[in-house]
Formats: sequence, structure tokens, C-alpha cells
Amino acid sequence: MSRFWSQVVRDLTPYVPGEQPKIANLIKLNTNENPYPPSPRVLAAIRGELGDDAARLRLYPDPNADLLKAAVARRHGVTAQQVFVGNGSDEVLAHAFQALLKHDAPILFPDITYSFYPVYCGLYGVAYRTVPLTADFSIDPADYCGQANGGIIFPNPNAPTGRLLALDAIERILAANPDSVVVVDEAYVDFGGDTAIGLVARYDNLLVIHTLSKSRALAGLRVGFAVGHPALIEALERVKNSFNSYPLDRLAIVGAVAALEDEAHFADCCARVVASRERLVGELAGLGFDVLPSAANFIFARHPQRDAAELAGALRDRNIIVRHFKLPRIDQHLRITVGTDDECRALSDALREILA
Ligand SMILES: *Cc1c(COP(=O)(O)O)cnc(C)c1O
Repeated sequence: MSRFWSQVVRDLTPYVPGEQPKIANLIKLNTNENPYPPSPRVLAAIRGELGDDAARLRLYPDPNADLLKAAVARRHGVTAQQVFVGNGSDEVLAHAFQALLKHDAPILFPDITYSFYPVYCGLYGVAYRTVPLTADFSIDPADYCGQANGGIIFPNPNAPTGRLLALDAIERILAANPDSVVVVDEAYVDFGGDTAIGLVARYDNLLVIHTLSKSRALAGLRVGFAVGHPALIEALERVKNSFNSYPLDRLAIVGAVAALEDEAHFADCCARVVASRERLVGELAGLGFDVLPSAANFIFARHPQRDAAELAGALRDRNIIVRHFKLPRIDQHLRITVGTDDECRALSDALREILA
């Protein structure tokens, strides 16, 4: 605290990202990064953009990232006017809170969800009400129908539970809330869900947000995008152009385009993660864990007899880090990113030893 701080800064409760420790030989299963490298075409595109003397970095990037919007539009069968791109989906989400979710009525999101949502509410002064997940940690669409609200946001699959909501349930929420924007944060949808982007043509209140950080293995490049009705996209552009004209640098734009164009690498990478996830679920169930069904690149599990914080600590002593949230309802769960098969095996071997 300092006398120089504005009132807004005094009142903030910032988001705390999963740690990125600088320890060698760490098995890092705490922030849902992809265990495989991005498409080799990404590196080639970035090298090409740099050229021999990096002189191109002298010039500003395209403020509209038109090449990237076109690539997203091609990949998802929409028009470029239905696409917004940003510096990671966190930035896209931030703009959505300010541009589309800030109204008089409180917005709705699940009590257990991506913990950045209440942080954006604090930053932008958005009122919110949390809606409890059911006892089995699912979203019940009925809880989002027939309640006055200023907007709705949830991840699908949800984080940190990994549970998937079917498209018909999302459509029910959209149809019941024609005067609210419904934001579906599909950070993990490529690992086992159906995207709601196909519903954008029929629902002008739907905004679907994607990231290249998880399924495209580009968390370090910082690229996310939104797909929605052009009027929703225009709102995001108005905020973006009042904040930072160039959120995506030259390397990010060409790298992201290359990633979106390498369908084979993407499909192979996702299939490998999904196969490892299913093996890991089986292993942990064999060790006595209750594991929620996951459609993401992480699993959410608890051991009925062992304290989650102690398990996380014991794993850490063995150089394996997973995520533990000290939050109501989930403080006995661990969120474990699906790594390579070797990493998953090291994890289950360590847990077997700890539980013995
Ligand atoms: C990882 C994650 C994001 C943020 O992704 P970036 O594009 O890396 O900013 C957004 N939403 C959820 C639910 C996530 O888990």
C-alpha cells in the first residue's frame, strides 16, 4: 500500500497464476500447458517473419491482425467480422467483461469456476452472483434460466472441474436469456467437447472464446480469440482500440496463423493428450481416488482418506507440482494437468508411494 495508489488499485484482489518455478527436472502438472511442442510450422513462420536482420520488428504489426482473423474464420466457418483476437484469451475475457457484461444487473457464473472471473468483476466494477454447481459439480442449465441477470459466463468444459456441458444445455441457456450476453469460455473444448461456435449464427447473444495456449501448445505466444455476432465483436474492438492498438505482435500473428493451419499436428496432439488422460484416470481410480469425468487436459480428483494439501506437498517434495485450491467445496481436490505418458507414470508412481 502506498499513498500513490488509486482507489481502484487499493480495492483490487489480483488473480494468482499457477507458479512457474525455475527448478530443473520438475514435472509441471499445475497450469494446464500442453506437454507437446507446437506445430513446427509455427517456428518456421516466426523465423520467416524475423527474416535475416529482424528489421521488420522496426515496424508496427497490423493493428487488426487481419491475417489471423481470416485464419480463425476459415478454421471455424465464420466471417472475419465475427472474429476478435487478443493477447491471450485472458485479454479477450477482460474486454468482454468491460464491453458486454458490465450492466446494472449482476452477472451469473458458477461458484466453482475460473477464478479470474471475479477478479475482472473487481477491476471493472461488474456486479456478480455465483450459482452453485450441483453436488456432482455439474452446471444445471435450469439455474441460469428465469433469473434476471446482466450476463452469464462459464467455461466449457468447466475449470477446474473438467466437466462438460452438452450443446443442447448451452442452447437452453441462450434461448432463455435473449437479452443477456452469454460468454462460453472454451479454453479446453478441443480435448473432448463440441464447440458452441456453430450456434453463433442463430444466437446474437453468444460469445465463444478460445485460446491457443492449451490445445495449440502456445501458452508462451499469448493468443486468444472470440467468435460472435458482429455487433458483439464491434463492442470488443471499441474497448481494444481505447486500450492498446497493437495487442498482438508480429511474431504472435504469424505463429498463430501457422498453428491454426496445421490441422494434422493439432489433431494428433489432442488425441495423445486424451489417450493419456484416460490412462491416468484409470491409474488414479486404481489408487482409490474419486476422479470427475474430464473433457479437458486436466483431471480433478480427491482421495477419500488423504488430505489434498498434504498430497500436493508430498508430490512437490518429489519434484511434481499439481494445483491445489484452498477454496470452499474443493479444498480436498487436486487439479492435475495431463502430461506426457512418462510424466503421468511418474505421477502415479509417486502417489502410490505416498499412499503406501
Ligand atoms: C487457461 C485459461 C484461460 C486463459 O488462457 P490464455 O489464452 O493463456 O490467457 C482462459 N480461460 C480458462 C478457463 C483457462 O483455463
